[in-house]
Amino acid sequence: MHHSEVFIETKPHAIADAMRCQLNCHSTLLLMRILLVEDEVKTVQIIQQGLEEQHYQVDVAYDGPMGLQLAMRHPYQLIITDIILPGFNGLELCKKIREAKLATPVLMLTALGTTDDKIIGLDAGADDYLAKPFEFRELLARIRALSRRGTTPLVTSNVLRIADLEMDLSMKSVTRQGKTIPLTAKEFALLEYFIRHQGRVISKVELAEKIWDITFDTGTNVIEVYVNFLRKKIDKDFSTKLLHTHIGMGYVLKIVN
Ligand code: CA
Repeated sequence: MHHSEVFIETKPHAIADAMRCQLNCHSTLLLMRILLVEDEVKTVQIIQQGLEEQHYQVDVAYDGPMGLQLAMRHPYQLIITDIILPGFNGLELCKKIREAKLATPVLMLTALGTTDDKIIGLDAGADDYLAKPFEFRELLARIRALSRRGTTPLVTSNVLRIADLEMDLSMKSVTRQGKTIPLTAKEFALLEYFIRHQGRVISKVELAEKIWDITFDTGTNVIEVYVNFLRKKIDKDFSTKLLHTHIGMGYVLKIVN
């Protein structure tokens, strides 16, 4: 085979791989995850859409208690909260977050914009304050400023995720819907491989090479056994199944709609 043929043959795959890597790196390493706590649907839509266009990942809570629950459960790099909310308000939310020793920067958004309100917000533990109505680019500028002095490093986040499953590579922990799932080292490596290549069917041959560092022997069922262990742990107790078998081809980790 000529060298040039090999090059032409492999090029589209190489590009696809590079793109996939870029997407993965983007979603797992560079994406800043923001919690937005706001009860006005219209405002939520505008902010969420605008931030997602800027490649921020946005989760929304429509009241104080839900905001607190999400803030406790996920490692957000920033919390944007309105002040007047159902349940308890943004000031209380901020106090509760600080009482829970979460250092996540908080940006308060509110229609109230007098100096007194600002002081109350900052006293409650907010890091910055933005009065509605505001220009979107000002919101973006505040977010950039807060993320620069943020206490959580934004680009070194070691959390991989698919749907409601989260994998913290530094802590070596896996949770689904906030519940901890204990995995063995091999299961952890397997899940990490699946999650980094989510959406792609992965053959047993590939898993044997990448996870076990062995050449796949059709006589062994070790891979099937481990995939089944993993599947039981991450999927069995949840209605949305993530790990799927493609008979004769391999396995794929994906969200099936
Ligand atoms: Ca409100």
